[in-house]
Amino acid sequence: MKCNQMTLCLFFFIVFALSSVVISEDVHAIAAKTGEVDTQTSLNVRSGPSTSHEVVGSLTPGEQVAYTDNGDGWGELVDGSGYISLHYITNHDGEPVDRSSAKHDSVPLNNERIVLDPGHGGKDSGAVANGLMEKEIVLDIGKRTRDILENAGFAVLMTRDEDVFVSLEERTAMANAWGADQFISIHANGFSNPAANGVETYYFPGSAAGKHMAANVQNQLVEHTDRTDRGIFEESFYVISHTTMPAILVETGFVSNADDASQLADANYRQTVAEAIANSVIDG
Ligand SMILES: [Zn+2]
Repeated sequence: MKCNQMTLCLFFFIVFALSSVVISEDVHAIAAKTGEVDTQTSLNVRSGPSTSHEVVGSLTPGEQVAYTDNGDGWGELVDGSGYISLHYITNHDGEPVDRSSAKHDSVPLNNERIVLDPGHGGKDSGAVANGLMEKEIVLDIGKRTRDILENAGFAVLMTRDEDVFVSLEERTAMANAWGADQFISIHANGFSNPAANGVETYYFPGSAAGKHMAANVQNQLVEHTDRTDRGIFEESFYVISHTTMPAILVETGFVSNADDASQLADANYRQTVAEAIANSVIDG
């Protein structure tokens, strides 16, 4: 290339400089990382970067994956098959992408679909007492339950996985549209009498499947939490009467009772409750 005029040279220089900036940004945007699936059973591949997105496949433990990391905790698989939670990926080594290693199964190991419904959220705090807000307690229990169930190969949809308000209509519509097999609403109790305490579970009146689920959860809770067994009850709460699949509502303790509240405030207790709920699903 000959540059007879200074301005022409300058022009080409600017074009060259701009294009190299654009090219280097593109290269950065598609830089992929590799890692290994660190789960006990399987890892869900979803259609988008959140647990609200549909499960479109699964990866097996120890499987090598190549993905791009957008910094939101989710990785986009470079083979275009979907998104994975980077929470379950280890050995982020940043090595060059080996596209042949990003294989995946086409279906989850377990096709059963579980909706977890942490009550309240956003402007609706639920029961508030002893420095606790129900909406925070039940969201944490819900996430812990989700993690256990997903590791066990279940497809899990949460009606909310952050502190946002979701109407009862939206919650049930979500579960019905997804074609869930089970719906589990998670709550904590509050009552004017601070002596009221314990765990209880509700199911839709006359539902044999709901009663079976409720009994399983309640047995697990009583066995593992050392809380008062208040029993299982029939009740037409909105979320268990407007869902088309077997549904229960679990009350995980009273924030208004000092002893229950001290437990609900403890992450170990919330993990125990999550395991009880998850085990009731896994054991069926
Ligand atoms: Zn509630």
